[in-house]
Amino acid sequence: MLAPQTVPSLEHLTPHDLVSYYRCPHEMELNRTGHPLRFGGPALPVLTPADVVPLRRSPLFAPPIGTARVNEGRLDLGDRDHLVYQDAGEDDLPMLFPPERIRLDARFTNGSGNLVDASLGLAGRPDMVIARADGGLVPLEYKATHLFVGYHEAHGRPFDVLQAIAECRLVHSAFGHRPAYGIVLYGDASGDGAHEGWVEVPYGDAEERWLSVALSQIREDRIRAPVPAERNCAGCEPNAQGRCLYAAARYQGPHRRA
Ligand code: SF4
Repeated sequence: MLAPQTVPSLEHLTPHDLVSYYRCPHEMELNRTGHPLRFGGPALPVLTPADVVPLRRSPLFAPPIGTARVNEGRLDLGDRDHLVYQDAGEDDLPMLFPPERIRLDARFTNGSGNLVDASLGLAGRPDMVIARADGGLVPLEYKATHLFVGYHEAHGRPFDVLQAIAECRLVHSAFGHRPAYGIVLYGDASGDGAHEGWVEVPYGDAEERWLSVALSQIREDRIRAPVPAERNCAGCEPNAQGRCLYAAARYQGPHRRA
């Protein structure tokens, strides 16, 4: 008699895993294996072998970024737009809507707060999901930073673009509507709002393909090599915990990223 076959489950990944892998695969591995530390448990075994050769850059290729539309100033919300989802775990999000236009719907999160795409093994929480007047849904990720700091640098805002792409996919899966784009809102309040801005990240076939291939690439990588560089290591949480053997700089705080 044949033994029953088991289907290997996909390694659970989040938009944040994509961001950290794009910066440094070893950072993602240390984040993943260090998760139990938050609850007082021991860290899980790390995949990265002791004789790993550090890399100069992450092996993950960049998301399609050329068509992202950069806007200065306040986000252009219409009177008939409303909020259908907000990450309850984030307490520093801006108030974009008056109470009568906040209509959160827990059906889309199974009550857990996470948006889930079981087919890709992806789960996570956009900061918000906005329902536009035309029925379109748009995930929004909020960054309390200046719009143009690092935006055009090679190691700058591509991180935000790939996060927006992953959140579009989660909204598509959870709500059943494919967003045409995601928004990254930059909310630097200094200068009386003069530094605010937002980026519209298109979400189409090319972005969806990129996401699927990127997730497969991460799962197939059993090395998860370090990419030691000051721009990476200065804001790396496992570095703050003293868990990285390859750090190129001391930890300087969560905002010391390019
Ligand atoms: S300290 Fe640097 S090399 Fe080590 S995991 Fe963090 S980003 Fe990677």
